[in-house]
Amino acid sequence: MRRAFLILIDGLRPDVLEAEVAAGRLPNLKALTDRGARSRAISVLPTTTSVAYLPFLTGCFPGTCNVPSIRWLDREAYTGRWWKDRAAVRNYCGYQAGMLDDDIAPGVQTIFQLVPESLAIFTMITRGLTPGRDPAQGARKVVGSLAHYVDCYGLLDRRAAREFLAAVDQPWRFVFTQFPAVDGYTHGATPAAREVLQSLHFIDRSIGRAVVRLDELGALDDTLFVLVSDHGATKMHTHVDLAEWFMARGVPTLHHPVLWARNPRAAVMVAGNAFASIYARPGVPRERRWTMEQLRRPEAFGTDHDVVAALVREPAVAFVAGEDAEGNVRLASSAGEAIITRDEAAIRYTLLSGDPLELGGSFSGDRDAWLARTFDAPFPDAAVHLLDQFSSRRAGDLVLAAREGYDFRNRYEIPEHKSGHGSLIRAHMHTPLWTNRPLPLVPMRTADVFPALLDWLDVPVPQGIDGRAVWQPGRAPRAKHPHRQPAGALHSR
Ligand SMILES: [Zn+2]
Repeated sequence: MRRAFLILIDGLRPDVLEAEVAAGRLPNLKALTDRGARSRAISVLPTTTSVAYLPFLTGCFPGTCNVPSIRWLDREAYTGRWWKDRAAVRNYCGYQAGMLDDDIAPGVQTIFQLVPESLAIFTMITRGLTPGRDPAQGARKVVGSLAHYVDCYGLLDRRAAREFLAAVDQPWRFVFTQFPAVDGYTHGATPAAREVLQSLHFIDRSIGRAVVRLDELGALDDTLFVLVSDHGATKMHTHVDLAEWFMARGVPTLHHPVLWARNPRAAVMVAGNAFASIYARPGVPRERRWTMEQLRRPEAFGTDHDVVAALVREPAVAFVAGEDAEGNVRLASSAGEAIITRDEAAIRYTLLSGDPLELGGSFSGDRDAWLARTFDAPFPDAAVHLLDQFSSRRAGDLVLAAREGYDFRNRYEIPEHKSGHGSLIRAHMHTPLWTNRPLPLVPMRTADVFPALLDWLDVPVPQGIDGRAVWQPGRAPRAKHPHRQPAGALHSR
């Protein structure tokens, strides 16, 4: 029986993993992936826990799932009443975490629905799981909220490892395991902090034990391992609290965790914390986003100036994105403005007065071409993910990506996030993609892992997903001497 283990190390930067294996400190992972590949994949916008799990578990980007961020506002339903309208504002980092499953677009199927013999350990997305197939859910909720304050991430990883090793001996076809400690330790220090590296060493030993056991069972050749992360991270030297920024301009601003302002003229929803969604006049229900042009008028936020122009002057802001009346994406940064349009043939990025995506010029191509052209660009795959973001009605009127070293939240972030993620920058978008099977020599996105898992398990891939069937580990001829497969792929380094 073929089996697949998807191991997600939350918030792990690929270069941290690559340096540890190069230093000889991840012997089990090295041995396992020497038969396959150590590569990288591109994540989604925003690069935050839970929404960035969606591509692995559904094959779809967050916008396609209609879950554009971890915090969002339903502009059609919210009327400004703190208690009565609380269900029209979402924050998955609290009591509303359980609403995520129902918020995912009804047509989107999770791998747990498609593979009934699947188990998940510490998953935020549970659609299709029964309680018996989600053994650590209670522990995740209780210990997870405590870990935020009392630093017991190591405990969570040990629990994950225990469940993972127990699953090896059970007949599950698909096992998803999330190790949460790396993200927690990263926020408290740096992406390569001593505690992060110790977590990796622990995971390496756990995987080593699983491999030994699978070998004893004679099941190793029929097992696909895929080790990934949902997003990267960077050290934050400056917190610019965006809600305070608006309030300093006299704009009553709705923001978490207070979530109430009398006659608010802006709602600021931060994620990661280097990504933000901004909604104008949130208490007045309307169907459509306002256009960038409307939002630039002083009356949009009730100020005496163009708020978009003021935002792009902030060193923290890499760029501001909004829509125009035709549904194209408008980008503004301190370097000028550009537009992203789309037709059947291509996604076109056209410079107007500048180059906010720092591509060095206009560029046009399909999704494959964008991925190949921008894999190592300052904002990898940005046009694809900005279009995805605005495909969700729940997305903000404006979205902001922070520059490296900056984030958008200061007040109420306890303990302080010394490192973080959320933005479209390379250090947040690049994630590790390591496996014990060969990878194709094409650049990949995290969404491409989902069809690969289904291919391995002989389960038909649903139509209409964002992930591409570029990696078909189940179709590759079984190598008699798997160690002869070349290690590494295009983006190994
Ligand atoms: Zn995080």
